[in-house]
Amino acid sequence: MKVSRRDLFKIGGCTLGALGLSQVPGLKALAADSAPDVDVYAFHCGILKTQTQYILKDTRVGAPFDIPVPFFLIRHGSSWVAYDTGNNAAVAVDPIKYWGKPICDAYMPVMKPWEEFSVQIKKVGLKPKDLSAVIMSHGHLDHCGALDDLASTNVPVYFQKKELDVIKKIVASGKITGAYIPADFKKLGSVNVKALDSYLDVFGDQTVMVFPTPGHTPGHQSVLVRTNAGQNLILSQDACYTLENMTASIPPGLAVDIPEAMINIYHFRTMSIIGAQLVPPHDPDFWQGKPLGPQKFKS
Ligand SMILES: [Zn+2]
Repeated sequence: MKVSRRDLFKIGGCTLGALGLSQVPGLKALAADSAPDVDVYAFHCGILKTQTQYILKDTRVGAPFDIPVPFFLIRHGSSWVAYDTGNNAAVAVDPIKYWGKPICDAYMPVMKPWEEFSVQIKKVGLKPKDLSAVIMSHGHLDHCGALDDLASTNVPVYFQKKELDVIKKIVASGKITGAYIPADFKKLGSVNVKALDSYLDVFGDQTVMVFPTPGHTPGHQSVLVRTNAGQNLILSQDACYTLENMTASIPPGLAVDIPEAMINIYHFRTMSIIGAQLVPPHDPDFWQGKPLGPQKFKS
């Protein structure tokens, strides 16, 4: 189904009753008695020890900043979808060998083996092959690192096509480029990769909506989740690192296109003003006291 960015604002920003979503063409109202059970579980795959300017452009330059590396599971009835996968298991063993020294000088990971994707999702009784789909925000090392867990499964793994094009070029070069690690994609050929060039309504009921948010990378994508607790959660991943990026309109420290990245941040701010809630991935203050999996996420 085709859903416009305007429809997304309406989904994200209001309760059904308040703005009469049922009047939006193509959008179904979620009747309370037929609404699926939808909830979110957040997991942290360790931290990155970095500096503030790499997250908030030109801000508090040189000040140390330890940021969490989150990935998410979204439960829709009895189906489970993952949004991102965190770092590769090798990062818990020897990060400098796996990511290289220049990256570790800027973003030193601190990760335990039990923080790896396939180990953590066992907390809710899942193996990678049990997932209905995986949405990859983008190909960077702290998001796409456990892609090889999906190799030789039938699980569809969704990327925006523009992101796949970048990944394929980097794989062909064999060189670590920016925050893309060719070794993260060594099993790409045996992953059930799906290319998107727009929105994806994962379950066809507007509860889990994937939408393009380019700027940080050419094919970044974010997810809007409408939980049955009545929350409209914007899982932005690197389209908005921290709340301060949004509230103070500060560009991300790393972006291929800063004006495009800022458009996403302005959209998130607008959506948050009308009731949607941003879940800023790399914001240590935001995550203070927030429940992590296997507990349900609560904002
Ligand atoms: Zn990131």
